[in-house]
Amino acid sequence: MATSFVDKARITVKAGNGGNGAVAFHREKYVAAGGPDGGDGGKGGDIVFVVDDNMSTLMDFRYKRKYVAGNGMDGQGKRCSGRDGDSMIIKVPRGTLIRDTETGGIMHDMSDGEPYIVCKGGKGGWGNKHFATPTRQVPRFAKPGLPGESHDITLELKLLADVGLVGFPNVGKSTLLSVVSKAHPKIANYHFTTLFPNLGVVYVDEGRSFVMADIPGIIEGASEGAGLGHDFLRHIDRCRLLIHLVDVSGSEGRDPIEDFDAINAELSEYSPELSQRMQIVAANKCDLCGDDRSNIDALREHVEALGYEFFEMSAATHNGTHELVQVAARQLQDLPPVIRFEADYVAPEPVIDTSEELSIEQYDDVWVVEGPWLQKLMSSVNFNDSESMMYFDRVLREAGVYKRMEEMGVRDGDTVSLYNLEFEYRD
Ligand code: GDP
Ligand code: MG
Repeated sequence: MATSFVDKARITVKAGNGGNGAVAFHREKYVAAGGPDGGDGGKGGDIVFVVDDNMSTLMDFRYKRKYVAGNGMDGQGKRCSGRDGDSMIIKVPRGTLIRDTETGGIMHDMSDGEPYIVCKGGKGGWGNKHFATPTRQVPRFAKPGLPGESHDITLELKLLADVGLVGFPNVGKSTLLSVVSKAHPKIANYHFTTLFPNLGVVYVDEGRSFVMADIPGIIEGASEGAGLGHDFLRHIDRCRLLIHLVDVSGSEGRDPIEDFDAINAELSEYSPELSQRMQIVAANKCDLCGDDRSNIDALREHVEALGYEFFEMSAATHNGTHELVQVAARQLQDLPPVIRFEADYVAPEPVIDTSEELSIEQYDDVWVVEGPWLQKLMSSVNFNDSESMMYFDRVLREAGVYKRMEEMGVRDGDTVSLYNLEFEYRD
């Protein structure tokens, strides 16, 4: 087996931490103490997913499972900001779903060409240059950077194709794809030649085309043989139309009607919704039938009674393949677009243990509060949202932060400084 097909991968990703702000003072001759000039820490790099249309498997992720973006550099004196950390760009095939490993929730569907930031880098801390005020000329504090987000994610490839070919192994699916498109899937007269899905672009006429997917054959009960089972059906999940190929030649001693029903039973077992997908039935290998039309006619009757459109063809002699493409194109015009999956992952509320003591330090009229749980809390609160802000305020109050500051002598109008947030203290 030359190439193996990998269509699921579990990886961990971590965005870069923000750099720390600097405490520094400008020095000048004849000036006893210069102004504060400590620069800001740089922002941590993001973890960004992009689509690469040259990729068709998730194989790369088998060898590399951990992806870490660069940390922001610390700020320096002379108002120099630290350099931002480099973002980590991760390329995936089009149609890859990004899922939260723990819950399986979909975070994003990489179907359009837009980059997706899965983990944001931590913000850099402010240097002490920010903290000079007329009444506070010697700020001896700066802010640490915030940690970058991290996540356990599972990538799952769900190919994007308009038309999916289904049918038993050896019925001629790969042959059909090679005849109607420029794709070169492996074709041979034994089962399980196709071990990974192939995509081909089918040109209908001037300016009109669609994408056809050839997936490995499915058999009743599946999962035997080369171990291909229902797993591969995920690649036709998004298809707008299915072409169901049936070998009517009886060349393998099988009954076409039984084959047809068995495949449809497999489809509905995998997903009832998929079994309802629009389906065209194509009786293949008609060239081998000669004058004996009994198989063809019996299948036609069976299939048309169930309401499917029926076609006679031969992928080998190209007989009927052009007509099949025309009919597929016509049906696609009226079908809904390729399915895109909506994100349904909801980030859990962070578990924050406020029993751990925070450090509270006073510099003139500025109160600097720091500690691991506060850092965690601040990374998760959206400060543009008033409800989140109220939640944040409540957590601080309940944790006794304000009470401790009162005991230490905080006054109305003093500044409370928490990482990248400052506000005035009000009784
Ligand atoms: P798949 O497993 O469904 O992808 O089937 P393949 O496309 O690999 O074809 C299996 C075998 O059937 C190959 O030897 C093909 O050459 C042969 N075949 C496919 N279509 C036809 C056809 O219309 N007529 C004849 N006589 N042979 C065909
Ligand atoms: Mg094949």
